[in-house]
Amino acid sequence: MRAAIRKVINFEFGQSQEPNDLNVESLHTDGQQRTALLATSDRAARQWAPRWLEQAGLDTVVTDTPERALERGREARPDLIITDASLQTGTSTLLMSSLRELHSEPVPLIALCANAGDIVLAADARATDIVRRPFEWDVITRRAVQAVRAHEALRNLTFAQQQFEDLRAAAMLAEQEHARSAGIDPLTELPDESRFRRLAHSAMSARGNAGKAISTIVIGIDHFRDVNQAIGFVNANHLLRQFAQRLGAVLCEREVFGDDDGGTITAISGRLGGARFAVQIANGGDDHVRSFFEAMLQELKRPFRVDGQSIYLTASFGSATWPRFCDSADELLSCAEAAMVVAREQGTGLQAWNARLRRSRADDFKLDCLLRAAIRGRELKLHYQPITDVETGEVVAAEALLRWQHPTEGEIPPARFVPVAERTGLMREIGDFVIDTACAQLRDWLDAGMDPIRIAINMSLCQLLRGDVVAVAAEALEHYDIPAELLEIELSERGVLNQRPEVVGEIRRLKKLGVRISIDDFGTGQAALAYLKDLPIDVIKIDRSYVSGDGRSERHEAIASGIVALAQRLDATVIAEGVETEDQLEMLRSWGSEECQGFLFSRALPSHEFFAQYA
Ligand code: C2E
Ligand code: CA
Ligand code: CA
Repeated sequence: MRAAIRKVINFEFGQSQEPNDLNVESLHTDGQQRTALLATSDRAARQWAPRWLEQAGLDTVVTDTPERALERGREARPDLIITDASLQTGTSTLLMSSLRELHSEPVPLIALCANAGDIVLAADARATDIVRRPFEWDVITRRAVQAVRAHEALRNLTFAQQQFEDLRAAAMLAEQEHARSAGIDPLTELPDESRFRRLAHSAMSARGNAGKAISTIVIGIDHFRDVNQAIGFVNANHLLRQFAQRLGAVLCEREVFGDDDGGTITAISGRLGGARFAVQIANGGDDHVRSFFEAMLQELKRPFRVDGQSIYLTASFGSATWPRFCDSADELLSCAEAAMVVAREQGTGLQAWNARLRRSRADDFKLDCLLRAAIRGRELKLHYQPITDVETGEVVAAEALLRWQHPTEGEIPPARFVPVAERTGLMREIGDFVIDTACAQLRDWLDAGMDPIRIAINMSLCQLLRGDVVAVAAEALEHYDIPAELLEIELSERGVLNQRPEVVGEIRRLKKLGVRISIDDFGTGQAALAYLKDLPIDVIKIDRSYVSGDGRSERHEAIASGIVALAQRLDATVIAEGVETEDQLEMLRSWGSEECQGFLFSRALPSHEFFAQYA
């Protein structure tokens, strides 16, 4: 029982009591120092409240003006604020609100209210507790202790929650690490590449030389880099997970592999990294590869849902089957992968590894060796094809085209060796040679008295991606003292132009040098026209399929004349390539094409012949 001996002093409107017996557990018990800030104009409160609060374990800082309250609040970092609801700072802001915003974490606040208006203010300022006159400090102190305790409990809880989250994140990382070391890709939970290879190898050894075929299929999601950029890394990961789930679901479908009398058909799958997956089907055959492919196509008809968006994906599939062309699990995988690349390049969906591909891989390999020797032996040359002004008939530019006369193999056309050199990266070195040789040639012609003409060179994507092509071009221009606007850089719409930021950035840097940017093979790319608005384009070259050949139709002509109109709107020069007849020239003239290039005028010529004809 508590013995209540109270000494009551009446003062102003409130009452204060001498703290004799506060029936509340003091905050002192845990030995921590806590501070209350009391800001009030009520003298009695200033006199009595500290005695109660201190008995409950709250050191009390007392102030009577808002300014001092803010100052002390800043220094003392109180654990509790008790203030008159009506006190205002110099800016007419309520002191309650200003005090609560002093520190990043809001402090519990008890508002002392004299009337109903104060209560509304206190509620608006989201005071933790509201007390009305007359102020009974024994009661207020108990509520103060509760408010401090509740606040601290909440803080501890938040801290514990944070710790829990940290622990969970650490556990997840450890789990991923564990999965990785066990050969599981943590994102999709499929075997990773090395585990897939091991599994595929064991499946194959288990079969020995007997039994039915084993097929490996490599699946590559198309344009995944663009998807990644469009929806962000986290969403792209969701997409990969869903893709893996659908792949798993297809492999479980009975209809895909059906029942086979030759024994059970088994399939293993894995993620090769990035957006590439692999499947190995043992005991199946070409029919099973096809039905797997068709089931996957069905799956891809449904959109993937990420972050509230529907996303449609396409994929390319390459397959290779043992024992037809490959004799190890690793070879199966590498052939399936090469076939997938072909499927993607040619847009065929599924491509099986076959004798033709094997031959062309062997040929590419041979060509690559020959080409390396050709660079060393200076077998590569440039020839120059004139570009003529439609109106005046004058030669205004020359396109530099690579020529390779091999000592024993004869002439190897660029259409044959350029794609190989692009795949192996050799095109970067060859590209440097082209820039340097073309600039040197123009300098020779100018020195020999030829009127200035533009020189156009072709540039491959791998050159743009290497990152130093701008420096190479700048050096050549300076070294041979060629005005930058005489150098025209042709970028093919098929294969070079895309909206990857590194490509767009490099093209802009080239443009900054002052050279002219030309879009080659215009009308053949699938890039829609989206890139046109982002790029500084000076020239558009209408692809020769629109101009020459028998396949020309009214539709072709409509597109080509549309291109001319578009180029005029973009203020770009139009060059029509592949002009072979007078009729075609007449047609181009009627469309408004300004410059022409083609066999009607001349083939690409060795430099001395070009000079002899056009200087
Ligand atoms: P391209 O850039 O479209 O070059 C024009 C091609 O059309 C040249 O073939 C040229 O000889 C041919 N051509 C010109 N006028 C006519 C015509 O009236 N009718 C027909 N049917 N064809 C005509 P070429 O020299 O065999 O070059 C083929 C491709 O090889 C070039 O196509 C270009 O993509 C690539 N290439 C050539 N040299 C280089 C180079 O230095 N760097 C890069 N990256 N690619 C090059
Ligand atoms: Ca070209
Ligand atoms: Ca072209």
